[in-house]
Formats: sequence, structure tokens, C-alpha cells
Amino acid sequence: MNPPVHLPSPTDDLSSAARQVLSAVFGYTAFRGQQADIVQQVTAGGDALVLMPTGGGKSLCYQVPAILRHRRGQGVAVVVSPLIALMHDQVGALEEAGVHAAFLNSSQTGEESTRIEREMMSGRLTLLYAAPERLTTPRFLAQLTSLHERGLLSMFAIDEAHCVSQWGHDFRSEYLQLSLLHERFPDVPRIALTATADELTRADIIERLQLQDARVFISSFDRPNIRYLIVEKNGSPREQLLRFIRDEHEGEAGVVYCQSRKKVEETAEFLQAEGLNALPYHAGLDADVRRRHQDRFLREDGLIMVATIAFGMGIDKPDVRFVAHLDLPKNIEAYYQETGRAGRDGAPAEAWMTYGLADVVNQRRMIDESPADETFKQGQRGKLDALLALAEATDCRRVRLLGYFGEESQPCGNCDNCLNPPATWDATEAARKLLSCIYRFHQRGERFGAGHLIDVLRGKVTDKTTQYGHQSLSTWGVGADLSEQQWRAVLRQLIALGHVAAEGEFNTLALQDSARAVLKGEVEVRLREAEEKKPRGKSARGGARPKSDPALGLDAEGQERFEALKAWRSEVAKEHGLPAYVIFQNTTLAEMARAVPGDLAELGEISGVGAKKLEAYGREILRVLGR
Ligand code: ADP
Ligand code: ZN
Repeated sequence: MNPPVHLPSPTDDLSSAARQVLSAVFGYTAFRGQQADIVQQVTAGGDALVLMPTGGGKSLCYQVPAILRHRRGQGVAVVVSPLIALMHDQVGALEEAGVHAAFLNSSQTGEESTRIEREMMSGRLTLLYAAPERLTTPRFLAQLTSLHERGLLSMFAIDEAHCVSQWGHDFRSEYLQLSLLHERFPDVPRIALTATADELTRADIIERLQLQDARVFISSFDRPNIRYLIVEKNGSPREQLLRFIRDEHEGEAGVVYCQSRKKVEETAEFLQAEGLNALPYHAGLDADVRRRHQDRFLREDGLIMVATIAFGMGIDKPDVRFVAHLDLPKNIEAYYQETGRAGRDGAPAEAWMTYGLADVVNQRRMIDESPADETFKQGQRGKLDALLALAEATDCRRVRLLGYFGEESQPCGNCDNCLNPPATWDATEAARKLLSCIYRFHQRGERFGAGHLIDVLRGKVTDKTTQYGHQSLSTWGVGADLSEQQWRAVLRQLIALGHVAAEGEFNTLALQDSARAVLKGEVEVRLREAEEKKPRGKSARGGARPKSDPALGLDAEGQERFEALKAWRSEVAKEHGLPAYVIFQNTTLAEMARAVPGDLAELGEISGVGAKKLEAYGREILRVLGR
């Protein structure tokens, strides 16, 4: 009897073909996470819904199937993307890797689009990027129909698929029309991708895009290379920010989020005056200025964008090393989305936020004063509470973040609380003193804000304490043992917990029903130790950076080679009119500087060096490396 022979099954063939594309075209050695399964599903003609965090590697999930299907003669993959500004760079990156791709959008001349349409209709193109509004025009639909009839419409990829959901934060009505694709071309496989995790949005995407038969791929939403740091505001938050950037991120690219346009302008000016390379971005700026600033952020090394949340969607710059929040975001979803723009390249990055009493008060008030109905406001309050709990947490931030998205995890070792477990103290007594002081005011029919309350608690004589005769209150001076900063922390947490509300134009403080239990001593209040102003040093970062940092781990000579490679890359990028990272990412350059490959074959082994780039740039790189 013959021994059983292992015949390659069609799926084996498929997965080895996929790996071959991954390594030859993109220069990568292995698929990440669920990429391989997703590629398999779509290449074989199935539908997929992919939920993956930012930086997880969504692009390859449709690019590899598109390449494989094109090679089999199945024609053009159509990619729907809402971000016209970024299509140019995405297509540039594919062409650099030797993949024939193009985009159609309103920024092109008639001549250009005619040329691209010809490429598309011939089936020569592998990928075509188009904005959703283009896709559903009669002209474009007719072109798709013609392609389809000739068997040259290979697949649809719908990027940023959450735009179809009204629950999401980026709803676009044109996305609703995309269900048309399935109705017209039911046999063409579709892959929808998003980084928005919540269940409501997911259900909405499935329903609106008619993806009921799609396989759903949900990745872990953890971003292990992002270190979460949340610090208390003390003195000047801008100075805290400056120190954070100077100590940890000098010369690196980052985003600083502020709530208002005015604060964006002021903060950008402040950083510029300090000699940092910072630019403002908000919806009140001229469209031209905005585009220029975004372009510079993408193309230049080490630029800091100070922005409102108007900035960021779809910014796929891989080497953003930090995202800083000077104001509290709206909720955890927003915090996660915004911080997620850091470290897409997988190298260490930091999400830093400073928050204080005013943030808590402002966010609460914004909800209270919004014209929405009470049920909606209640929902918003719940979300804010979750964010405040994250900010006040004394345990692992990541465990809380992931827990919020329904994912269980272990303490991460890469957040401030894991690295420097904060000291806590029993603030039950202090909380009672504070609440009863407000209670005394109430008894006298008086309302005051935080400043005066703390003066009374600490027994600090001011014009106001004299004017109101507050020196005779039973709570006068009972809190002299705590600093003003500590009292602010106590008050902030009492507001965060909902025992006290700050009301009206002057944020006067009022006791809430739940305060009674605290007053009676029935509730224990444990607080994190207020951080006194202390020099940031090692403790702030809490030890060494993880090893994978591309810039670190290079000795002086390696660093020099790295700089030389960056200089060479920036010339090439300028020549090609593309951002530097499209040519090679920093991680790839750092690996070259470290390994110093002796010949083209060795260079080709480095992650991120595909066949086309090796051919185009290999010799020059070896020359820069002195080989
Ligand atoms: P997303 O769109 O999910 O935010 P991207 O597709 O932009 O993420 O990928 C993030 C980064 O990870 C990119 O720099 C990409 O080149 C890199 N990447 C993706 N998949 C792999 C892989 N299998 N091996 C190495 N690098 C990868
Ligand atoms: Zn942690």
C-alpha cells in the first residue's frame, strides 16, 4: 500500500500565494493577527466585515486579495474611501511597491480622469480608489456594469465602513447608497473595514451594507505599543505639555488635541515660541491653510499638529510618536480613536492627557446645557462618567479601556499606573469636611465656587471670607492640613462621582442627593495621591522604553547611518511628491542602519523591502550605507 501523499489543497495554494505576495510586494515576512484568514476569505470570493484597531493593518486585508485576484485575471478592485486627501498617498505607496493603482476624485482634470478610466476599463488596473459619491453616479455605475459583464470587476473594499452608521461619529449620507453595489453586483465579493468597535455601529454596518452573509473578523482592540499616561493639571497645563514633549519627544511627530479653536491657536503659538515645530489645525481655518498644514504634517519629519477633533480621521501617518490631550475628550470612544493615531507603525508611542477640575465641570455642563432630550443626556453622562473613572483610576488603564469595549485583559505593564502604581489615601474625612462646608453655605442661602470653598476650608483670610463673615463658620480652617492642590483633587473627584454639581455661569457648587451617604460616613472615598509639582524624570516614563523603538537600540554609528538614510529618503520623497514613509518607514530604515546589509540579497531580507523597492533603491541604499 502506498503511503498517503499530502496533496496541496486549494486553500494551501491560496495561502502560499498570499504569503508570496506579502513578501515580494510588501516585503513583510508574516501576516499579522487575522490578516491571513481575511485575505483567504475575500480572495476565495466571500464577503468580510473587518473590525481592527487603527494600525492593525487593514489595508493589506484588501490589497493582497486585490493583487491575487488581478493575477488570476479577475480584473479591478474598487476601493471606496471617504478621504480624497489621502488617496493620492495611498496610491503612491502602492505604485512604489509595484502595484498598478489609481484614484478618481474631484481634484483631477478631465484629461487625467479619462486616462484613468481607460486604464480601469481595460482591466489593467489592480486597484481603483474612489470617493463614495463618485461610485453611485450613473456614469460610474455604467462603467462598473461593463467591467462586470466582462468578468473584470474583481471586488469591492469599503474603507471606514462606520461612515454608513448614524451612530458613528463620521456619518456620511453617501455611504448609504453603497448598498447599491450589492444589489447590482451580488456575486462580487465585498470587504468592509472599520476601526470603530461598538456593537451598535457594527450591527448598523451589517444591515445597511447588506453584509448579513459576511464573515465577521473582530480583532483585539489592544494597542500594546501605546503607553497611556494621564496626569493631573497643575499650574500651567501648557508647561506640563511642553515638559512632556521636551523630555520624551523632542523632534518627533505628534498631535495635541484642544477643545476650542482659540486654544488651538494659542497652544500652537506657545509651542512655536518655545522653538518647537508646531502648526494649528481647526475648522475655522481656511481650507487652503488646512490642506497645507495637513500636508506638511504628513510629509515633514517631526511636526506637531495642534488641533481640534476636526483633524485626524484617516490620517495614516505611521510614525506619530505621541498624542496629547490638553482637554478631556467627549468619551472613551473618542479618547481611544484620537489616541489610536499614535504609533501605527507598531513602535512605542505615548498617549498623554492632562486633566483637572475645570475639565470635569465643563464637560458636565456641556451636556447639561445641550438642547438634546433627557434620555440622550443621560446616555452622555454615563459615557462621561466612564471616562472620568478612567482618568481617576489607580489600576491599569488598559484593562479599563479594553474592558469598556468588552475585552478582558491583564494589567499591561505599559501604562502610568502599572509602571508607577499611584499612592492612594483615605479621603473619606476630607470629603465629609468639604461637603459639610458646602452644606453650611446652603444653610445661609449662599453659593460659592471652588476657590472660595477651599479658602474657607484652609482658613485663608481674604476680602471675601471677611465680607461674608465665614471665619465664624464651624468648617473654617478644618482642612488646613491639605494643600490647595489636594483639595482640588478631592472636589474634582466628588464632582466626578456626582456628589457635587457645579452650576451656572460661576460654577457655584451644590450638593447632590448622593452626598448624604458620604456625609454620614457610609461611603469610603479613596483618592489617588495628588501629584505635587515634581520634576519629570525617569519616573514619569517609568523605566526604559520597550525594545522595539526604531530610534533606540542604535549605537552612535548606527544612529548616523539612520540619519543618512533619512536624508536620502527625504530627497526621494520630494522627487516623487510623496510622504517620506511611503518610500520606507522609519522602522525599516532603522533596521537597515542596524543590520548594515552587505548586498542586495541581504537588504531584501529586511522587513518592508519588497522586490520593486529593492530594484528601484537597493543600490543607492547600499551606497548610503557605504557598501
Ligand atoms: P490600519 O489601516 O488598520 O490603521 P494600516 O493598514 O495602515 O493599518 O497598517 C498599519 C501599519 O502596519 C502599516 O505601516 C503597515 O505597513 C504595517 N503592517 C500591516 N500589516 C503588516 C504585516 N503583516 N507585517 C508588517 N507590517 C505590517
Ligand atoms: Zn497598565
